[in-house]
Amino acid sequence: MRRLGLDLGGTNIKRVVLDGDDIVERDSEPTRSDEGVAAVLDRLAGLAREAGPVSSVGVALPGLFDTDGRAVLLPNLHGDWVGRPIAEPLADALDRPVRLINDGHAFALAEARIGAARGAEDVLCVVCGTGIGGGLVIGGRLHLGVEDRAGEVGHHTVVEDGPLCGCGNRGCLETLAGARAIASAARQPSFDEVVVSARRGDERAREAIRRAAAYIGIAIANLTIFIAPKRIVVGGGVAEAGELLLDPLRAEVERRVGRVAPLHAIDIVPATLGADAGAVGAALAAS
Ligand SMILES: [Zn+2]
Repeated sequence: MRRLGLDLGGTNIKRVVLDGDDIVERDSEPTRSDEGVAAVLDRLAGLAREAGPVSSVGVALPGLFDTDGRAVLLPNLHGDWVGRPIAEPLADALDRPVRLINDGHAFALAEARIGAARGAEDVLCVVCGTGIGGGLVIGGRLHLGVEDRAGEVGHHTVVEDGPLCGCGNRGCLETLAGARAIASAARQPSFDEVVVSARRGDERAREAIRRAAAYIGIAIANLTIFIAPKRIVVGGGVAEAGELLLDPLRAEVERRVGRVAPLHAIDIVPATLGADAGAVGAALAAS
């Protein structure tokens, strides 16, 4: 059966249709959240209808929602989302149940089932973009935790009195290794420009990526000794730096927990589904 997944991002809404585990349709349109919540919900419903007949609908959200399908915190979207119902108006518009999933969880589910960690039972996924999220698959199943709140890797404290985070804590991973933090450390206008400079050999840009990699490595080392996952998938915009990021990241994990964790049997690999991962995970979660 055809399964529909939508991924509501700060910039674009992505849509995929899965037939089995194959992506048979993909599409995207700008979110334009400045037009308000109702306009964005209409756009989601419109994209869903254009997909034609499907057996299930899942929607990945860039933040937190409650068990009734209402928004709790969607910091990257404009408009007054807090407390607004999301699942119910979409289900009414489409005349079928709609499953919501956090975008980090969606990424983890997608990479574990049909992406870089296909075939592995225990998987840790870290998505590094402007924010940092993630998810865990344990014994082949997505681990959601109480109120679906597991996997907030970005709010893992890695520096005791580090920079203040939007969540109120200090020294969260996201404040030190998110795309903006890296651009700021490299004194570049955007993360993409840091990568271009680093590839040209700019030492300040390389050092900014190395430092971020070390912080992500600390977070992964901490999680690895608890979970001992078979595969660790690193994705998101920051992972576009490729081996510039992954080499020092792996070295940091080795340095921290190489004697305790069975790293010879644990792979740290780049994500393979790219920008489709959130929508694919939403489609998989709904079915
Ligand atoms: Zn935080």
